[in-house]
Amino acid sequence: MANSNNNRRKFMATTLQSVGLTALGGLLWSGYADEAKASPLVLRPPGALAEDDFLKACIKCGLCAEACVNRDSNRNRDGSQREGTLKMAKGGDHKVIGTPFFQPTDVPCYMCDDIPCVPVCPSGALDMKSLINNGTGELDINLAQMGLAVVHKESCVAFWGIQCDACYRACPIMDEAISLEYQKNERTGKHAFLLPVVHSDVCTGCGLCEQACITEKPAIFVLPREHSTGKADDHYVKGWDKKDQERVKDAEAIHTKNERSDKEASDYLNDEVEY
Ligand code: SF4
Ligand code: SF4
Ligand code: SF4
Repeated sequence: MANSNNNRRKFMATTLQSVGLTALGGLLWSGYADEAKASPLVLRPPGALAEDDFLKACIKCGLCAEACVNRDSNRNRDGSQREGTLKMAKGGDHKVIGTPFFQPTDVPCYMCDDIPCVPVCPSGALDMKSLINNGTGELDINLAQMGLAVVHKESCVAFWGIQCDACYRACPIMDEAISLEYQKNERTGKHAFLLPVVHSDVCTGCGLCEQACITEKPAIFVLPREHSTGKADDHYVKGWDKKDQERVKDAEAIHTKNERSDKEASDYLNDEVEY
């Protein structure tokens, strides 16, 4: 009888162990699967290293998110605490689990002057040096490059001729990161458009414009810089840009595959034109 009880206990223990291991395996697998399909369209805190370096350096401690939610300015009028900007990714977020990110449509970055989320980072994944203003030697949130705002012209009602400047007014660097460009409506000749234009050299990617946008799905939204910017080949020269001319002054002559023609440009005029 004692033997049969022992056997039953052993059987129960083994069963529970297998169930536990299966559940743990499931969790690990779902974590792995989540990481494998992590979206590259992720916005990181101010001062974050380039994404690959950031992922190697971040130790997933959550101190930045803690500093963000606990900052003094993160209070409602009644004194209660607001939701923080930075979240730590969990299963189902489609981000690398345990890393900090933000979604401007929910909570943008309020561009705190003292940037409390950055100095607390113990691993260097958030690089304080990149946010130090060379002129003042102090932290400067305007140097942050969390992303870049992009306007989708087809859904922005300002491009329909409807007056809207919600994004422009929400921007903490108004008239520098985003400006309104006057454009005459050539069709009617009477009306004008006031169009939001984002300036990539100033925009920090805070997302306050995205959160303020009045359209059902924001017509202005922030993307990581590597996904919102292009790059022209180095041999293209703007021509009028002084810095650009300096950049290519020592460049080697560009060789084309075809021999250069001896003809004058005017020799080609009217070639093969019959009267
Ligand atoms: S700058 Fe301020 S609002 Fe933005 S992530 Fe850091 S603590 Fe949060
Ligand atoms: S993300 Fe929008 S609100 Fe923030 S700096 Fe850029 S244009 Fe301004
Ligand atoms: S708030 Fe939205 S709809 Fe209005 S001008 Fe800005 S991008 Fe366009």
